[in-house]
Amino acid sequence: MEEYLNTRGRIFDIQRYSVHDGKGIRTIVFLKGCVLRCKWCCNPESQEYAIQQMVQNGKTKTVGEDITVQDALDILEKDRRYFYRSGGGLTLSGGESLVQYEFARDLLHGAKASGFSTALESMACAEYCKIEAVLPYLDQYLMDIKHTNPQKHKEFTGKENSLMLENARKVAESGQTELIIRTPVIPTFNDTDEEIRSIAEFTASLPGVTEIHLLPYHRLGYDKYVGLGRPYPMGDLEPPAKEKMLRFKAIVESTGLNCVIGG
Ligand code: SF4
Repeated sequence: MEEYLNTRGRIFDIQRYSVHDGKGIRTIVFLKGCVLRCKWCCNPESQEYAIQQMVQNGKTKTVGEDITVQDALDILEKDRRYFYRSGGGLTLSGGESLVQYEFARDLLHGAKASGFSTALESMACAEYCKIEAVLPYLDQYLMDIKHTNPQKHKEFTGKENSLMLENARKVAESGQTELIIRTPVIPTFNDTDEEIRSIAEFTASLPGVTEIHLLPYHRLGYDKYVGLGRPYPMGDLEPPAKEKMLRFKAIVESTGLNCVIGG
């Protein structure tokens, strides 16, 4: 058995049969741990690396489990025929998968060796050497760019964004993977024409990048905050209206990029 198949990582969920977050039918492995604390985060149980307890539907459940690369591959194997027919495969999500970059690297390696397509959802908030480690095994990088203004980024996520923007450019220039930019559209954070235009113009300047996904804010994570005994940081803010999202789509498209709402 190859040594990398024994690498252990900490996950908090595995979702099969997803048609989001990559091409075709995907199995999404959610890794625990994140370096940001976005106020709108819909997976607050992903943020801490530590294993936690969360109340869901009146029952207390343990969030977090340590598995090996081989354990994850065994689950992926069950969906081989769906992957084959749809062009789907493995998507790593989080949290920020690069917090556990060795596990991410080895699991992507294992998926490629098994003949599955691979995708990574990540905001690229890590030293570039960690990103370089996963790129050889990655077909598609779904990279968050949340804002171009460092202060506003820090106010809403806990960290400013220069490392992430720099990494986005390095990944694009490497040409090693298909890079798609994703932007959560968050009321009071980045939901003005100017802010969306600025993100689109930055994206359009990245070599080889042709597409942005705009992901409208939603409140689906609310119950998880309650279950973790945490206040919901977004208060009563409502999701952006459909008309507003369509206007943002037109702004993105005016920079020459394709734009998908959702994705
Ligand atoms: S980067 Fe993603 S997982 Fe991390 S806090 Fe922000 S929304 Fe949550």
